[in-house]
Amino acid sequence: MEKYIQDLLSFLDSSPTASWAVSRIVSKLDENGFHRLDEENSWKNTGANYKFYTVRSGSSIIAGITGSEPCEIAGCNITGAHTDFPGFRVKPLPDRKHDGINLLGVEVYGSPIFATWFDRDLSIAGTLAIRSGKVIHRKQFILKKPICRIASPAIHIQREINKDGFKINPETRTPLILSTSGATFDDVLSLACESAGVEMESVFGWSMEVWDPQPAVLGGIEEDFIFSGRLDNLSMCHASVEALLASGDSPKTRLVSLFNNEEVGSKTINGAGSTFLDTVIERLSGGRDEYFRCLSKSIQVSADGAHAVHPNYPEKHDQGCRPALNGGPVIKVNAMEKYTSSDLTSAYFRTCAEEAGIDVQYFVNRNDIPCGSTIGPVTSARTGILSVDVGNPMLSMHSIREITGKSDHEAMIKVLTEHMRGSVNISD
Ligand code: ZN
Repeated sequence: MEKYIQDLLSFLDSSPTASWAVSRIVSKLDENGFHRLDEENSWKNTGANYKFYTVRSGSSIIAGITGSEPCEIAGCNITGAHTDFPGFRVKPLPDRKHDGINLLGVEVYGSPIFATWFDRDLSIAGTLAIRSGKVIHRKQFILKKPICRIASPAIHIQREINKDGFKINPETRTPLILSTSGATFDDVLSLACESAGVEMESVFGWSMEVWDPQPAVLGGIEEDFIFSGRLDNLSMCHASVEALLASGDSPKTRLVSLFNNEEVGSKTINGAGSTFLDTVIERLSGGRDEYFRCLSKSIQVSADGAHAVHPNYPEKHDQGCRPALNGGPVIKVNAMEKYTSSDLTSAYFRTCAEEAGIDVQYFVNRNDIPCGSTIGPVTSARTGILSVDVGNPMLSMHSIREITGKSDHEAMIKVLTEHMRGSVNISD
């Protein structure tokens, strides 16, 4: 199982954005004999045991292996996760100048813990929209040098910071320190063009995300933790794909659906609220009636980060459900339906875990702390597919540097592999 961990660390390091993560997954699927299907082409030639993937808008991907039985008979076993993570994006016309320092203005994406982005050696990655004649296409770029930084105020000019908390106005305190030499956004764009191998004159649009290039590492005295950015939710993207690859033959169609934009509500062209999953299943089903039959026989495991009990904030957690790091995958329950787990689907996941020889844990939030959500309810409500929300225990969720358990990652791959194999069934 050690190879899974090394592979995860490398995946985290080379995925500074959702679209880079999707590119890495595409490379792995290509190496494993998967066929690329484009949404604009016909899908009529997919037969049994067909390995395929399709990408929407560069940053969401659905990969799958068709079953030996038609999916209206055997249904689809789906693992869902999200490819995005909270952070900062460079604003249009971002140049700012204060007291001889050139800065770049940024926009907040999702809900990062702002303070964790201060005093980190930051860089920028993203996409460039290139014009060739009257045709536009996209190219990715990645900068790894620490070209910018968000600086905290010295303790001497904010004496109360440790007592009163580090309060941050996200507009005025977050511009990126870039240079004292007069270098501006154009110099960043020039580096991006160099990285992408394109001429600056041909760039007609861009998307730039701030990222922390510090590599993912094994940490803790026994190296049983993973310290990294973007663990929520690239670790579950990685586990989902590995489980698909390990699933072998099955009568059921297996799908891994990895959506962008969960951190901003999923209602985008390629978010979980889009038509992406529905259209893929309908096209695999071959007809409208077959599609509805397939939906009713399918089950989704929605995999996303779960809160481990925090040893220094023990009062923030439920009295009974206290998921431990390296204690195994977590089934997430919420009476307000922020999670899809039901008695039936929780039992389904627990049975998959038992078949894989893995213990599960449970998460429920305190009533006085509002619960987060994930893609599970969004896709389940859209499609009527049964679903369970699970995830691995982690600390520092939405920090620039999160912590998860090494053995939990391996355990989740085993359970998801059991789910993908389709040996466990619900008969309700
Ligand atoms: Zn998440």
